[in-house]
Amino acid sequence: MNIHEYQAKELLAKYGVGIPAGIPALTVEEAVAAAKQLPGPLYVVKAQIHAGGRGKGKFKELGPDAKGGVRLAKSVEEVEACAREMLGNTLVTIQTGDAGKQVNRLYVTDGVDIAREYYLSMLVDRASGRVAIIASTEGGMDIEEVAHSTPEKITTITIDPAEGFQPHHGRAVAFGLKLSGDLNKQAQKVTKQLYEAFMALDCAMLEINPLVETKDGQLLVLDTKMSFDSNALYRHPDVMELRDETEEDPAEIEASKHDLAYIKLDGNIGCMVNGAGLAMATMDIIKLNGAFPANFLDVGGGASKEKVTEAFKIILSDPAVKGILVNIFGGIMKCDIIAEGIVAAAKEVNLSVPLVVRLEGTNVQQGKDILAGSGLPIVAANDLGDAAQKIVAEVQKAA
Ligand code: GDP
Ligand code: MG
Repeated sequence: MNIHEYQAKELLAKYGVGIPAGIPALTVEEAVAAAKQLPGPLYVVKAQIHAGGRGKGKFKELGPDAKGGVRLAKSVEEVEACAREMLGNTLVTIQTGDAGKQVNRLYVTDGVDIAREYYLSMLVDRASGRVAIIASTEGGMDIEEVAHSTPEKITTITIDPAEGFQPHHGRAVAFGLKLSGDLNKQAQKVTKQLYEAFMALDCAMLEINPLVETKDGQLLVLDTKMSFDSNALYRHPDVMELRDETEEDPAEIEASKHDLAYIKLDGNIGCMVNGAGLAMATMDIIKLNGAFPANFLDVGGGASKEKVTEAFKIILSDPAVKGILVNIFGGIMKCDIIAEGIVAAAKEVNLSVPLVVRLEGTNVQQGKDILAGSGLPIVAANDLGDAAQKIVAEVQKAA
């Protein structure tokens, strides 16, 4: 789960991290009121969407010459004008895709006099099985590009969970940022505070880009992205409350209510599979046959008729879906029960696109008989390769 910049900064402030003063706003009036509470005379009006690259982003409605989603304002009047232009409009950044995201919230902050911008992030590194801290002197820009062209400018350290954060970790980060004197001490301190927040909040990723050195020698978190380990959210009801469902895919929200693991993708073949590994293999084999999956969907081990029906509804709510491939291994669930579920669900949702079903496992013959006797135009497949070829052919035939 992701949260907005202003929410992440409010959380980090509780761990002592230095942030510029700021107030969120949902309307132009609130933005003006926020600016009046800040010291001025420089303000920053920041679009709050779950995507980075806002500063260089473009508003769809405003044309190519308009400013982006992070704007400096030199008076309350300018804050008002920025808020008026940004709220309700669609911001397109390198991370939003072409559709962009509608800006419904702003964050009005105190403008900072920046001397230098740095990069600092933490994430769960699967290769080492530890939390990794990544620091770079090249802040404010695309870190992937820095990693690619000047990898020597990136310092990566990992924290042994048994040992925890030690002073030498902080020193390594401050050294990597090439800081000396008081700034070096501040870097050690903020790294420790960020690590404490990361662990206490069960973060999956915490990125500070940029961490800035102000002209008067302070290190401040100017921008941050924070995401959480969904499996640990039950431990953090306060974090769960920060969820902004308008930033998420409606089909994914619906799926999570039914305990279905669904992720929308760009192709046109809907997939319904049990087990994440089988779902991945199914997507791979669709691609090997020259087509693209419309989604990842794992109905889980004990898929009931109700779950199968909900899964069909969610897959079909995507207008891009031109065919569905069901690939179920009947292990805990028997194939005949699954076949009954598929038939009932297909009837209930008035299935209008080709459906190929591959069943394997316990009672597979009974399952196939149920599908064949259903009167529905279900195409049976013998194995995974056969299933993928058949659904790709069906979709091409229908196109
Ligand atoms: P992003 O574009 O979504 O990553 O948004 P950021 O919050 O990182 O802002 C983009 C850039 O705007 C930063 O890298 C800064 O260069 C600039 N910026 C943001 N806030 C301030 C500020 O308070 N003062 C100044 N001078 N520049 C700012
Ligand atoms: Mg940024």
